[in-house]
Amino acid sequence: VSFGYQQVDPAEKTRRVGGVFSNVARRYDVMNDAMSGGMHRLWKNRFVRRVKPRAGEDILDMAGGTGDIAFRMADLGASVTVADINPDMLAVGMERAADRAQTGLVWTEQNAETLSFDAAMFDAYTIAFGIRNVTDIPAALAEAHRVLRYGGRFFCLEFSTTLWPGFGEIYDAYSHKLVPQLGKWIADDEDSYRYLVESIRRFPDMARFEAMIAEAGFVRTKVEPMLGGLVAIHSGWKV
Ligand code: SAM
Repeated sequence: VSFGYQQVDPAEKTRRVGGVFSNVARRYDVMNDAMSGGMHRLWKNRFVRRVKPRAGEDILDMAGGTGDIAFRMADLGASVTVADINPDMLAVGMERAADRAQTGLVWTEQNAETLSFDAAMFDAYTIAFGIRNVTDIPAALAEAHRVLRYGGRFFCLEFSTTLWPGFGEIYDAYSHKLVPQLGKWIADDEDSYRYLVESIRRFPDMARFEAMIAEAGFVRTKVEPMLGGLVAIHSGWKV
């Protein structure tokens, strides 16, 4: 897969994103630890604490990939549907579930923009490090709203823009130089990781993304920045 960063047409972006995750699926979990120094585990733990999954709840973990968020929520008793556009990521997730003898998860291939579920099926919708890869974000947010029950909650964990002075520059240098290098060494795929870094840079800032969530119909929207907003948890409610 090779990327120029000019505007690409939507079908082309969706295809490229597919290529990236098929390429990295096998090394995905190792790379997350390498790139974040293990911190992604803490961010995901905090995210799931905010979601507060409860036994008996139906939760859709969108762009659920290899299951990191889904496993944490299933451990707390929720019935989790893991949906992802990429069958290779899902396949790794299903193998991990088998290894840990984790049952009760449903794995399904879905595009976040056009879900096959009926309306009002879920108590919560989670999406972690997924939304920035989606081509039509407003369409995905509208679908999140549609499939949630009234009283349901939306939670998104995503890289954003840190507001800490100086930190942004250090992070930019790190992400543009070191992350593609790590991608090359560990996953033998520099281009895919270059794309991932670029997709973070292009993603709307915290206030703009919160406004997009409100535009999709969610209320009581909230943002919780971590590391000054390097990573953020956005949430909202369907009432
Ligand atoms: N949520 C997992 C985690 O936190 O480890 C996986 C995150 S991974 C960085 C991003 C995932 O988004 C990939 O598995 C990719 O296939 C998926 N994805 C990208 N575009 C998507 C779309 N339009 N619909 C559904 N999933 C999508």
